[in-house]
Amino acid sequence: MAKLSGLFRESRSTVVFTGAGVSTESGLPDFRSRTGLWQGVDPMALASIEAWRRRPNEFFTFYRQRLSGLQGARPNHAHLILARLEAAGMVRAILTQNIDGLHQEAGHRSVIELHGSLRQALCLACDRRYASEILLENDLPSCKACGKPLKPDVVLFGEALPAAAWDLAVRESCSCDLFVVVGSSLAVSPANHLPALALEHGSKLAIVNLERTHLDPQASVVVSSPAGEVFIELSRELLSEATA
Ligand code: NAD
Repeated sequence: MAKLSGLFRESRSTVVFTGAGVSTESGLPDFRSRTGLWQGVDPMALASIEAWRRRPNEFFTFYRQRLSGLQGARPNHAHLILARLEAAGMVRAILTQNIDGLHQEAGHRSVIELHGSLRQALCLACDRRYASEILLENDLPSCKACGKPLKPDVVLFGEALPAAAWDLAVRESCSCDLFVVVGSSLAVSPANHLPALALEHGSKLAIVNLERTHLDPQASVVVSSPAGEVFIELSRELLSEATA
Protein backbone atom coordinates (compact mmCIF):
# COMPACT_ATOMS: atom_id res chain seq x y z
CA MET A 1 0.00 0.00 0.00
CA ALA A 2 2.85 2.39 0.84
CA LYS A 3 4.35 1.73 -2.59
CA LEU A 4 1.01 2.33 -4.33
CA SER A 5 0.37 5.62 -2.56
CA GLY A 6 3.97 6.64 -3.32
CA LEU A 7 3.35 6.03 -7.03
CA PHE A 8 0.18 8.17 -6.91
CA ARG A 9 2.10 10.93 -5.12
CA GLU A 10 5.00 10.93 -7.59
CA SER A 11 2.84 10.76 -10.72
CA ARG A 12 1.94 13.91 -12.63
CA SER A 13 -0.58 12.12 -14.83
CA THR A 14 -2.45 9.05 -13.64
CA VAL A 15 -4.93 7.05 -15.69
CA VAL A 16 -7.09 4.35 -14.08
CA PHE A 17 -8.37 1.34 -16.01
CA THR A 18 -11.30 -0.43 -14.39
CA GLY A 19 -13.08 -3.73 -14.91
CA ALA A 20 -15.96 -5.63 -13.41
CA GLY A 21 -14.01 -6.17 -10.14
CA VAL A 22 -14.40 -2.48 -9.18
CA SER A 23 -18.18 -3.03 -9.04
CA THR A 24 -18.45 -6.40 -7.25
CA GLU A 25 -18.57 -4.53 -3.91
CA SER A 26 -21.66 -2.73 -5.29
CA GLY A 27 -23.31 -6.15 -5.64
CA LEU A 28 -22.71 -6.58 -9.39
CA PRO A 29 -21.07 -9.93 -10.22
CA ASP A 30 -17.96 -9.91 -12.42
CA PHE A 31 -17.48 -12.34 -15.31
CA ARG A 32 -14.58 -14.65 -14.62
CA SER A 33 -14.30 -15.07 -10.83
CA ARG A 34 -15.61 -18.24 -9.19
CA THR A 35 -18.92 -16.43 -8.50
CA GLY A 36 -18.87 -14.57 -11.85
CA LEU A 37 -21.57 -14.43 -14.52
CA TRP A 38 -19.67 -16.77 -16.85
CA GLN A 39 -19.59 -19.77 -14.50
CA GLY A 40 -21.28 -22.60 -16.41
CA VAL A 41 -22.28 -20.23 -19.21
CA ASP A 42 -21.02 -19.79 -22.76
CA PRO A 43 -20.53 -16.01 -23.27
CA MET A 44 -20.97 -16.34 -27.02
CA ALA A 45 -24.36 -17.94 -26.46
CA LEU A 46 -25.65 -15.00 -24.44
CA ALA A 47 -23.73 -11.78 -24.95
CA SER A 48 -22.85 -11.80 -28.63
CA ILE A 49 -24.28 -9.88 -31.56
CA GLU A 50 -25.10 -13.30 -33.02
CA ALA A 51 -27.22 -14.15 -29.94
CA TRP A 52 -29.06 -10.79 -30.18
CA ARG A 53 -29.90 -11.56 -33.84
CA ARG A 54 -30.67 -15.28 -33.64
CA ARG A 55 -31.72 -16.02 -30.04
CA PRO A 56 -33.29 -12.75 -28.86
CA ASN A 57 -35.44 -14.37 -26.17
CA GLU A 58 -32.46 -15.92 -24.36
CA PHE A 59 -30.43 -12.78 -25.01
CA PHE A 60 -33.01 -10.47 -23.41
CA THR A 61 -33.62 -12.83 -20.47
CA PHE A 62 -29.90 -12.52 -19.64
CA TYR A 63 -29.73 -8.74 -20.16
CA ARG A 64 -32.95 -8.07 -18.21
CA GLN A 65 -31.41 -9.87 -15.23
CA ARG A 66 -28.34 -7.63 -15.53
CA LEU A 67 -30.55 -4.55 -15.87
CA SER A 68 -32.57 -5.35 -12.77
CA GLY A 69 -29.33 -5.99 -10.85
CA LEU A 70 -28.17 -2.53 -11.90
CA GLN A 71 -31.28 -0.82 -10.57
CA GLY A 72 -30.33 -1.31 -6.91
CA ALA A 73 -26.57 -0.85 -7.37
CA ARG A 74 -24.81 2.18 -5.87
CA PRO A 75 -21.19 3.33 -6.21
CA ASN A 76 -18.91 1.77 -3.59
CA HIS A 77 -15.85 3.19 -1.79
CA ALA A 78 -13.59 2.55 -4.80
CA HIS A 79 -15.84 4.51 -7.21
CA LEU A 80 -16.37 7.34 -4.71
CA ILE A 81 -12.71 7.71 -3.75
CA LEU A 82 -11.59 7.59 -7.39
CA ALA A 83 -13.94 10.52 -8.04
CA ARG A 84 -12.40 12.40 -5.08
CA LEU A 85 -8.89 11.63 -6.38
CA GLU A 86 -9.94 13.09 -9.74
CA ALA A 87 -11.28 16.23 -8.05
CA ALA A 88 -7.97 16.54 -6.15
CA GLY A 89 -6.05 16.35 -9.47
CA MET A 90 -4.60 12.92 -8.73
CA VAL A 91 -6.48 10.97 -11.44
CA ARG A 92 -6.71 12.31 -14.98
CA ALA A 93 -9.16 9.85 -16.52
CA ILE A 94 -10.93 6.56 -16.00
CA LEU A 95 -10.91 4.07 -18.86
CA THR A 96 -13.63 1.61 -17.97
CA GLN A 97 -14.71 -1.71 -19.41
CA ASN A 98 -17.79 -1.52 -17.21
CA ILE A 99 -21.24 -0.80 -18.56
CA ASP A 100 -22.85 0.02 -15.20
CA GLY A 101 -22.39 3.83 -15.11
CA LEU A 102 -21.25 3.72 -11.46
CA HIS A 103 -18.16 5.92 -11.98
CA GLN A 104 -20.39 8.70 -13.36
CA GLU A 105 -22.89 8.18 -10.52
CA ALA A 106 -20.00 8.59 -8.07
CA GLY A 107 -19.31 12.02 -9.60
CA HIS A 108 -16.34 11.12 -11.78
CA ARG A 109 -16.21 13.54 -14.73
CA SER A 110 -13.69 12.10 -17.16
CA VAL A 111 -14.93 8.56 -17.84
CA ILE A 112 -14.23 6.79 -21.14
CA GLU A 113 -16.63 3.87 -21.58
CA LEU A 114 -14.89 1.30 -23.77
CA HIS A 115 -17.77 -1.17 -23.86
CA GLY A 116 -20.75 1.22 -23.96
CA SER A 117 -23.46 1.58 -21.32
CA LEU A 118 -26.23 -0.66 -20.07
CA ARG A 119 -28.11 2.49 -19.07
CA GLN A 120 -29.07 3.07 -22.70
CA ALA A 121 -30.66 1.17 -25.58
CA LEU A 122 -29.59 1.67 -29.19
CA CYS A 123 -31.26 1.23 -32.57
CA LEU A 124 -28.58 0.00 -34.98
CA ALA A 125 -30.80 0.92 -37.95
CA CYS A 126 -31.33 4.63 -37.22
CA ASP A 127 -28.82 5.29 -34.41
CA ARG A 128 -31.44 6.54 -31.92
CA ARG A 129 -30.76 6.02 -28.23
CA TYR A 130 -33.30 5.50 -25.43
CA ALA A 131 -33.14 5.12 -21.65
CA SER A 132 -32.65 1.42 -20.95
CA GLU A 133 -36.11 1.04 -19.31
CA ILE A 134 -37.44 0.58 -22.86
CA LEU A 135 -35.68 -2.82 -22.90
CA LEU A 136 -38.00 -3.97 -20.12
CA GLU A 137 -41.22 -2.91 -21.86
CA ASN A 138 -41.86 -5.67 -24.43
CA ASP A 139 -40.52 -9.18 -25.01
CA LEU A 140 -38.60 -7.97 -28.07
CA PRO A 141 -38.15 -4.20 -27.76
CA SER A 142 -38.22 -2.10 -30.92
CA CYS A 143 -37.33 1.44 -31.95
CA LYS A 144 -40.23 3.88 -31.59
CA ALA A 145 -39.04 5.79 -34.68
CA CYS A 146 -38.29 3.06 -37.23
CA GLY A 147 -39.67 -0.12 -35.66
CA LYS A 148 -36.37 -2.04 -35.92
CA PRO A 149 -35.15 -4.17 -32.96
CA LEU A 150 -33.31 -2.40 -30.13
CA LYS A 151 -30.21 -3.67 -28.39
CA PRO A 152 -28.54 -2.61 -25.14
CA ASP A 153 -26.00 0.13 -25.99
CA VAL A 154 -23.13 -2.16 -24.99
CA VAL A 155 -20.35 -3.70 -27.06
CA LEU A 156 -21.32 -7.34 -27.58
CA PHE A 157 -18.91 -10.13 -28.50
CA GLY A 158 -18.51 -9.81 -32.28
CA GLU A 159 -18.85 -6.00 -32.29
CA ALA A 160 -16.13 -3.37 -32.60
CA LEU A 161 -15.37 -0.94 -29.77
CA PRO A 162 -16.69 2.62 -30.26
CA ALA A 163 -13.94 4.30 -32.31
CA ALA A 164 -13.98 7.67 -30.50
CA ALA A 165 -13.73 6.06 -27.04
CA TRP A 166 -10.95 3.74 -28.22
CA ASP A 167 -8.93 6.60 -29.75
CA LEU A 168 -9.22 8.63 -26.56
CA ALA A 169 -8.24 5.63 -24.44
CA VAL A 170 -5.16 5.01 -26.60
CA ARG A 171 -4.19 8.68 -26.28
CA GLU A 172 -4.58 8.59 -22.49
CA SER A 173 -2.60 5.35 -22.23
CA CYS A 174 0.28 6.67 -24.34
CA SER A 175 0.61 9.91 -22.38
CA CYS A 176 0.25 8.97 -18.70
CA ASP A 177 3.09 8.28 -16.29
CA LEU A 178 1.07 5.96 -14.03
CA PHE A 179 -1.48 3.43 -15.33
CA VAL A 180 -3.52 1.76 -12.57
CA VAL A 181 -5.56 -1.38 -13.28
CA VAL A 182 -8.43 -1.94 -10.83
CA GLY A 183 -10.54 -5.12 -10.85
CA SER A 184 -9.83 -6.58 -14.27
CA SER A 185 -8.63 -10.03 -15.30
CA LEU A 186 -7.05 -8.32 -18.35
CA ALA A 187 -8.51 -11.16 -20.42
CA VAL A 188 -10.72 -9.17 -22.80
CA SER A 189 -9.20 -7.88 -26.02
CA PRO A 190 -8.61 -5.23 -27.29
CA ALA A 191 -9.16 -3.30 -24.02
CA ASN A 192 -6.44 -5.39 -22.34
CA HIS A 193 -3.85 -3.98 -24.79
CA LEU A 194 -4.05 -0.57 -23.10
CA PRO A 195 -1.86 -1.35 -20.05
CA ALA A 196 0.83 -2.84 -22.32
CA LEU A 197 0.63 0.27 -24.49
CA ALA A 198 1.10 2.48 -21.42
CA LEU A 199 4.17 0.43 -20.40
CA GLU A 200 5.64 0.71 -23.91
CA HIS A 201 5.31 4.50 -23.69
CA GLY A 202 7.20 4.68 -20.42
CA SER A 203 4.38 4.64 -17.88
CA LYS A 204 4.60 2.75 -14.60
CA LEU A 205 1.95 0.09 -14.02
CA ALA A 206 0.09 -0.64 -10.76
CA ILE A 207 -2.46 -3.47 -10.42
CA VAL A 208 -5.20 -3.78 -7.78
CA ASN A 209 -6.88 -7.14 -8.38
CA LEU A 210 -7.89 -10.14 -6.29
CA GLU A 211 -6.52 -12.63 -8.79
CA ARG A 212 -3.27 -12.72 -10.75
CA THR A 213 -3.04 -11.20 -14.23
CA HIS A 214 -0.55 -11.84 -17.03
CA LEU A 215 0.92 -8.33 -16.50
CA ASP A 216 1.71 -8.77 -12.77
CA PRO A 217 5.41 -9.43 -13.51
CA GLN A 218 5.70 -6.06 -15.28
CA ALA A 219 3.89 -4.04 -12.64
CA SER A 220 5.74 -1.79 -10.18
CA VAL A 221 3.23 -2.88 -7.55
CA VAL A 222 0.46 -5.50 -7.32
CA VAL A 223 -2.10 -5.24 -4.51
CA SER A 224 -4.26 -8.36 -4.13
CA SER A 225 -6.95 -6.96 -1.83
CA PRO A 226 -10.55 -5.82 -2.38
CA ALA A 227 -10.60 -2.53 -4.28
CA GLY A 228 -12.87 -0.82 -1.72
CA GLU A 229 -10.40 -1.48 1.12
CA VAL A 230 -7.45 -0.40 -1.02
CA PHE A 231 -9.04 2.94 -1.91
CA ILE A 232 -10.15 3.65 1.68
CA GLU A 233 -6.51 3.23 2.70
CA LEU A 234 -5.32 5.34 -0.24
CA SER A 235 -7.77 8.11 0.61
CA ARG A 236 -6.39 8.21 4.18
CA GLU A 237 -2.88 8.60 2.82
CA LEU A 238 -3.51 10.85 -0.18
CA LEU A 239 -6.65 12.89 0.45
CA SER A 240 -6.00 13.84 4.06
CA GLU A 241 -2.67 15.29 2.82
CA ALA A 242 -4.42 17.10 -0.05
CA THR A 243 -6.95 18.73 2.27
CA ALA A 244 -4.57 19.33 5.22
P1 NAD B 1 -13.45 -10.12 -15.25
O1 NAD B 1 -14.64 -10.77 -14.63
O2 NAD B 1 -12.77 -10.84 -16.37
O3 NAD B 1 -12.35 -9.87 -14.13
C1 NAD B 1 -12.67 -9.24 -12.92
C2 NAD B 1 -11.45 -9.28 -12.04
O4 NAD B 1 -11.73 -8.50 -10.89
C3 NAD B 1 -11.11 -10.70 -11.56
O5 NAD B 1 -9.75 -10.99 -11.87
C4 NAD B 1 -11.34 -10.64 -10.05
O6 NAD B 1 -10.36 -11.35 -9.32
C5 NAD B 1 -11.24 -9.17 -9.75
N1 NAD B 1 -12.06 -8.72 -8.63
C6 NAD B 1 -13.33 -9.10 -8.30
N2 NAD B 1 -13.77 -8.41 -7.24
C7 NAD B 1 -12.74 -7.58 -6.87
C8 NAD B 1 -12.57 -6.62 -5.84
N3 NAD B 1 -13.56 -6.36 -4.94
N4 NAD B 1 -11.39 -5.95 -5.77
C9 NAD B 1 -10.38 -6.20 -6.65
N5 NAD B 1 -10.49 -7.11 -7.64
C10 NAD B 1 -11.66 -7.78 -7.76
O7 NAD B 1 -13.87 -8.64 -15.66
P2 NAD B 1 -13.21 -7.66 -16.70
O8 NAD B 1 -11.74 -7.79 -16.74
O9 NAD B 1 -13.83 -6.33 -16.50
O10 NAD B 1 -13.79 -8.33 -18.02
C11 NAD B 1 -14.18 -7.58 -18.94
C12 NAD B 1 -15.69 -7.66 -19.23
O11 NAD B 1 -16.60 -7.73 -18.15
C13 NAD B 1 -16.00 -6.36 -19.86
O12 NAD B 1 -16.45 -6.61 -21.14
C14 NAD B 1 -17.10 -5.71 -19.04
O13 NAD B 1 -17.92 -4.97 -19.91
C15 NAD B 1 -17.76 -6.86 -18.44
N6 NAD B 1 -18.55 -6.74 -17.19
C16 NAD B 1 -18.92 -5.52 -16.68
C17 NAD B 1 -19.67 -5.48 -15.50
C18 NAD B 1 -20.11 -4.14 -14.96
O14 NAD B 1 -20.32 -3.20 -15.75
N7 NAD B 1 -20.20 -4.00 -13.64
C19 NAD B 1 -20.00 -6.66 -14.82
C20 NAD B 1 -19.58 -7.90 -15.39
C21 NAD B 1 -18.84 -7.90 -16.57
